[in-house]
Amino acid sequence: MMKTGSCLCGDVRFELKGELRPVIACHCVQCRKTSGHHVAATSVRRDQIAVQGAVTWYQSSDTARRGFCATCGSNLFWDGAGANISVFAGTLDGCKVTQILAVSG
Ligand SMILES: [Zn+2]
Ligand SMILES: [Zn+2]
Repeated sequence: MMKTGSCLCGDVRFELKGELRPVIACHCVQCRKTSGHHVAATSVRRDQIAVQGAVTWYQSSDTARRGFCATCGSNLFWDGAGANISVFAGTLDGCKVTQILAVSG
C-alpha cells in the first residue's frame, strides 16, 4: 500500500512503496540535537521512495546526512550508507505510530 508524507508546510512531499521498517526510536546525541527530543523513524529501500520538492541536506557525519525542509524546518530523512533511507515517522500522513520496537543510543 502506498503511503504518503510531507513536511509541515507541504513544500516537500513524498511517497513510499513497499514495506516500512518498524519504527525505531533513536536517542543518540545527533538525533536529540536535530529533533529537540528523540527521533522515531521508519525506513524504506531507496528505490521505494519518491520525493517531490527541495530537500536540504545537512552532512551530519562522515557517513550520513540528514534531510529537512528549509522553509518550515521539518526533519524528514536520515540518509546513511546502507540500502535504506530512514523516514521520520511523524511526517507520514495519517500516521498511527503507536509501536516503537527498539531504542538505541
Ligand atoms: Zn516544509
Ligand atoms: Zn540517532
